[in-house]
Amino acid sequence: MDPFDSNSTEQANLPRNMIENSMFEEEPDVVDLAKDSTTFPTFPALDPDEVVFEPRSSRLLVRGLGENDMDEDEEDCESSARLLGMSFMNRSSAHRSNSSPYTRQAPPRSCSRPSARTMVVCVLFLVIVASTTMVLYLLPGCTFTKTGCRKMNKTAPIETVYPVSTNGQLFPWAQLRLPQSIRPLSYSLTLNPDLDNMTFTGRTVINMSVLHNTERIVLHSANLSITKATFKLGDGEATDVTVLEYKPRQQIAVKFSEELKAGQYCVLTMDYSATLSHTYDGFYNSSYSDKDGNKRVLAATQFEPLSARKAFPCFDEPAFKATFLIKINRKPNYMTLSNMPKAKSTSLPSGLMEDEFEKTNVNMSTYLVAFIVANFTPISKNVSKTLLSVYSVPEKKEHTEYALDTASKLLEFYNNFFEIDYPLKKLDLVAIPDFLAGAMENWGLITFRETSLLVGKQNSPLEKQVVSSVIAHELAHQWFGNLVTMSWWNDLWLNEGFATYMQYMSLQTVFPQLDIGNLFLTVRFRALDKDALNSSHAVSTEVTTPEQVEEMFDSVSYEKGASILLMLNASLPGDQQFRKGIIQYLKQFSGFNTDTDNLWNSLTQVEVSTQHQNVSEMMSSWTSQKGFPLVTVSRKGDQVTLTQQQFLLTSDNTTHTSSLWNIPVTYVNDSCSLAPECRQVFTLKSKTGTLKLPESVKWLKLNYRNTGFYIVHYGDEGWSALIEALSKNVSVLTPEDRASLIHNIFALSRLGSVSFYQVLSLLNYMSSETETAPVTEALLQLSSLYRLLDKRQENGLVARMKNYILHHFGSLMGKQTWGEEESVSKQELRSALLEMACSLKEENCTRQAKALFKQHVESNGTFQIPGDLQRVVFTVAAQSDEDWVTLLGMYRYATYDAEKRKMLQGLASTQNTQSLAWILKSGLNGDIIQTQELPLVISTVCNGFAGYLFAWDFVQENWGRLIEKFPVGSFAIQTIIKSATSQFSTQAHLDQVQGFFSGLKERGSQMRTVKEALETIRLNRRWIDKNLSKLQKWL
Ligand SMILES: [Zn+2]
Repeated sequence: MDPFDSNSTEQANLPRNMIENSMFEEEPDVVDLAKDSTTFPTFPALDPDEVVFEPRSSRLLVRGLGENDMDEDEEDCESSARLLGMSFMNRSSAHRSNSSPYTRQAPPRSCSRPSARTMVVCVLFLVIVASTTMVLYLLPGCTFTKTGCRKMNKTAPIETVYPVSTNGQLFPWAQLRLPQSIRPLSYSLTLNPDLDNMTFTGRTVINMSVLHNTERIVLHSANLSITKATFKLGDGEATDVTVLEYKPRQQIAVKFSEELKAGQYCVLTMDYSATLSHTYDGFYNSSYSDKDGNKRVLAATQFEPLSARKAFPCFDEPAFKATFLIKINRKPNYMTLSNMPKAKSTSLPSGLMEDEFEKTNVNMSTYLVAFIVANFTPISKNVSKTLLSVYSVPEKKEHTEYALDTASKLLEFYNNFFEIDYPLKKLDLVAIPDFLAGAMENWGLITFRETSLLVGKQNSPLEKQVVSSVIAHELAHQWFGNLVTMSWWNDLWLNEGFATYMQYMSLQTVFPQLDIGNLFLTVRFRALDKDALNSSHAVSTEVTTPEQVEEMFDSVSYEKGASILLMLNASLPGDQQFRKGIIQYLKQFSGFNTDTDNLWNSLTQVEVSTQHQNVSEMMSSWTSQKGFPLVTVSRKGDQVTLTQQQFLLTSDNTTHTSSLWNIPVTYVNDSCSLAPECRQVFTLKSKTGTLKLPESVKWLKLNYRNTGFYIVHYGDEGWSALIEALSKNVSVLTPEDRASLIHNIFALSRLGSVSFYQVLSLLNYMSSETETAPVTEALLQLSSLYRLLDKRQENGLVARMKNYILHHFGSLMGKQTWGEEESVSKQELRSALLEMACSLKEENCTRQAKALFKQHVESNGTFQIPGDLQRVVFTVAAQSDEDWVTLLGMYRYATYDAEKRKMLQGLASTQNTQSLAWILKSGLNGDIIQTQELPLVISTVCNGFAGYLFAWDFVQENWGRLIEKFPVGSFAIQTIIKSATSQFSTQAHLDQVQGFFSGLKERGSQMRTVKEALETIRLNRRWIDKNLSKLQKWL
């Protein structure tokens, strides 16, 4: 999936770092069943399911307390409860049913709240001995009670206790992950969507094989009302069975009085009814206006990660692959699409048509199933053995040609590159008018936002770059993700890191004119910024709850994943090594599921270099621990010493980690610094390493073209030498290397390792800089500081900062043209420069922008504003109330989505609070402004001074509605939280943000994004405290 909304600039700017979510930090919302087995009757007989495939942290439940040595007097009885309750923990707030039988009750042992008397004693004690506060805090509740902790019986076996189903019977499964005793082989789905009433009914027939003897079948189902179920064992008769449901975990089950035996085959058939979803997941309905203004409805699916269960009962985990045969009944005036080509259409007596699709010729994970009922029209062409089509609403058919052409070139590229042909007979790319993510890689039926697929006549090359990137990403998934799938969401990066890397790599090869390199570089910088926070997480990290699964869709899985693959590819000898390894991996695991080690092993096996580099050994240091290294350089004579330590931005100066990485350090020096042949490699595995260099070498630049995922500190002398070299001749380093120096020095300043004065010394060379990568990086860094000062109302400094920026970039700003521009790189450069100039109200810029807007309005839309300048022009226009109204009128009737979004960004940049209130409310209501755009609206509003506090209030007031629209942990929610809080820098705001989120409890308090937000505010405060007075002097 591409969760980003396909605006490359925003994507690059969006902070998306997340945090390790300790299972122990939250009080689990559980009944400690193990403590009182009389309260909850137990379900007897464990079978092999209960000890396999369970995330590490919850295994304790079934193993029993006896194994956990909980018998010591001093053992914390509350933490025992936590351990015991682990697998009963349900943090799935979005899915929690109010009727959950798991209500908190007083535990039978004495772990109750302290009595009032004890509290008084404790408070006094706390006041007197402040230094022991933490110790007391960590002590268990039972310490404060009269009876203390009861001794556990060492030998008593733990009895698994099961939750209660909706019908009052015991539900025969007590874990979030499904048991492994039954394996689905094939599904046959029949769906009857009723688009007039927004409901559907369905029948699901699942053929299964029994892997281990068991008395139950457990699978997923959410919001489906199952009306009838039958079960057939082997060749026996089908008999009615009762389906039990446990809603908090979205599970259903059938219990049997006699064991099903390993080796048997069986069939479960379920009839059900449901409502089409009103959000963006599951089988959801949406509507749009056609060119005559008539409302049209459609139904489409979005299942990744956990929503297939909302459309049909299924084993909804990626490792349960099966085949699918899908039938959809529709009214004659609709058409349908699914993963496979249509096999036949039959008229039904009811007047409906039944479309039957071919059975999938591949085993597929449930999250890749897709179907659509709509009125779309296609354009098609054959690409080797595949019929490739692009679908859109009929009036946008003319915007689909670019996508068809691009997809056909990329499909051929991937067929050759992977040496495995795309395995299905057809591949449809569908633009859906109402779609939250950027795109979704359903096998054979890729769904897109309109902006991620359609390219209008008035397109700009930058829009083509966006569309090509998303297509390249989703096509790569047809191999990485669809053919070979991660076993569980903890290794989501195997899907997403790879698809992200392949998207840049394929575009560089197939469409070099799209200049994708600058975007990939920016993306790597942002991934470093996120991974520098203590709240980050390892690329491959344990996930259990639905929220944790949602939160894996973040920049660590995508962008850090892609960055470390680039680093690996760049460090392998020979350009085919990497490719051979991934071909081997895809061939070996085709149709199966994998984990990270499988990938590294495949790459290690093809390694034929003489200086044998063990890929597993090197790469596991990058995937199994969070963060990345800071490499510090020091020179003495001909000796260069490199030292590594974690680059960790934290407000807590005492934090030290002993993490080490296996770093393929690359470097160039003043004698040879530009061509790839200049690059030398040094592998730094331990804390320090030494290399020799002639004393005549004046300067050294590490991380050649920033292909490595680390930051470099050159020490005072090293930085001075580089700054001096650049001030004499900009071209002594590649543009990527210059951008990398700028990024690194800002990061070091945030860390406190260099002063901001040194940052400014480096930036002095900028007046002779003209390349896109360094200029855009410098502007991005400066504008984030500018905004921070602006929000602090440091007006004097804001004015100085403005002068500083105009002084260093003014001449380059003045050289930008306002007409059509073909080069993507030049478009990126000028849009960044002009957006900065106009936001600083530089007179020439605002005058030109206003003139273009006027010309556009007066021509009645026949005069087109170049695509890359639309955002700056609309933003300038929106600052006048009169033009804001004009722009709103244009927005309401605009049909071309890419342009429409830029109008929306313009509208949301107004400083008129009434207009801001209106636009936020409209985004939430979803009529004039689609709800899918709300994250973009909020992030744009937050950039402005008038809007940022307003937006924060809005988020707090409407939190309940926001998480109805976007799941807790989802990328949309991550974006909203980040936008609304990232510019705070005071203790008061920190307290407010902390207070708000902790009050949410299960409605979002445990999200990594929240930890990231708090950490960011603390870091902002630290930076301001440290630099505010000095900036007066330096700027
Ligand atoms: Zn993806």
